[in-house]
Amino acid sequence: MPYTNWGRTLRFSPYQLVYPKREEEIVQIVHAANEAKRSIRVVGAGHSWTPLIQTEGFLLSLDKMQGLLSLSPKEQLVTLWAGTRLYRVLPRLWRVGFSLANQGDIDRQSIAGAFSTGTHGTGRAFGVLATQVTHYRLINGTGEIQDVYPEESPELFRALQVSFGLLGVITQVTVRVQLRYYLRLVKRLERLEEILEKSQEYLERHRHFEFFWFPYSEVGLVKLTDVSEVAGGTSLWRRWMIDAVWENGGFWVVNKLAQLFPGKSPAICRFAGRSMTAEERVDKAYRIFASPRWVRFREMEYGVPAAVGPEVLREIRRWIQKHQPAVSFPIEYRYVRGDDIPLSPAYGGDRVFIAVHMYHRMPYETYFRGIEAIFQAYEGRPHWGKLHTASAEYLRRVYPELERFLHIQRASDPNGIFITPYLRSVLWGEPSPALV
Ligand SMILES: Cc1cc2nc3c(=O)[nH]c(=O)nc-3n(C[C@H](O)[C@H](O)[C@H](O)COP(=O)(O)OP(=O)(O)OC[C@H]3O[C@@H](n4cnc5c(N)ncnc54)[C@H](O)[C@@H]3O)c2cc1C
Repeated sequence: MPYTNWGRTLRFSPYQLVYPKREEEIVQIVHAANEAKRSIRVVGAGHSWTPLIQTEGFLLSLDKMQGLLSLSPKEQLVTLWAGTRLYRVLPRLWRVGFSLANQGDIDRQSIAGAFSTGTHGTGRAFGVLATQVTHYRLINGTGEIQDVYPEESPELFRALQVSFGLLGVITQVTVRVQLRYYLRLVKRLERLEEILEKSQEYLERHRHFEFFWFPYSEVGLVKLTDVSEVAGGTSLWRRWMIDAVWENGGFWVVNKLAQLFPGKSPAICRFAGRSMTAEERVDKAYRIFASPRWVRFREMEYGVPAAVGPEVLREIRRWIQKHQPAVSFPIEYRYVRGDDIPLSPAYGGDRVFIAVHMYHRMPYETYFRGIEAIFQAYEGRPHWGKLHTASAEYLRRVYPELERFLHIQRASDPNGIFITPYLRSVLWGEPSPALV
């Protein structure tokens, strides 16, 4: 059976799909790949759209290496098997008194998968999720098992934080957690221009700020989230009504209409924009961060320098008005703190992340290309897991430490067993040599 990813952008047959249960088995596969000159890619939950996991060699799933390995309450550190899915471990962590400091929109990813592509949430004080990591256990390209700490191997550690499997197989991750907390989420509709004008104020006053804007609509849905001193919860019934009936069921209808009547997209988007629901609720942190996403879509997201975020969004709006693309998904606007991770899209300074989406049954190429040109005009950096067409030359310009990263890659993986044709073309700008 060919392997497909969540976004249905990939369909491929690896030479072997392997589910190791122990690190020793991974070491053996690394030796076998070196001998047979075959590549290895690891798959997490398959929630990336780009062909990061695509290989004609060994595809490793760490689905059988999941769970909590150790918890140190005093230091607030938790060590997990790298294949652990977030949605499985977060309720368990809550029960023992802890939460992650920040999360993205969903919790379906594996911990190593989410951390490897620069996955992020939003908030002035929060970097990409990988900034929460304090230790990795890695099996590199020669089969050596390494425990990598920032104090002992700062360069390798930083490179690993966003490395999409290029430095080896991550088997364990230690994450700094916080005492568990409740969050209050306030969602409300505001005029787009007002949101953009107030965005700096929202950022400063709220722990998390983001908004969704339906193209063609005059209004956006602002989401302001803060720690709540009082506990709270949402009844199953209410969550079902919000998540299943409206946010997924109603939204599916919107997308079907746009697919059937693409010319009516502007009217459909305006209707969907006005129909987004204002809401206020308090719940456990992990339940507020993540929402179920049942309507399948394709996505492209770039991080642009934070100062130009509002300007980039206005330019996107002008492009949409001029070109009138058929689209029925909102655009998402988030904020991520800068870091020093070589391949992080937030390297060197705070970034605004703007994401465009398209229902998976509608053509996305023209829309994404048009918006991507705007992102690139502002030196934006693509999210590695989301669709983009950035060339190796462009990536070199916007990632000043890319060459250095590739040097570390070669040291960690001398025979290039973790490199595939896709990665070779994106990062090296070259057609692939023998490995597949
Ligand atoms: C519905 C949806 C919502 C999303 N929301 C957000 C969001 O809010 N914010 C955001 O930034 N992104 C978001 N994403 C993107 C997603 O978080 C990333 O693409 C993430 O990397 C997917 O994790 P995964 O476990 O599926 O990894 P995969 O997609 O399976 O793999 C991602 C990369 O990690 C590597 N990898 C996986 N496990 C290991 C390992 N053990 N060792 C070494 N390398 C490994 C893979 O080789 C690959 O290169 C979303 C995606 C979807 C589909």
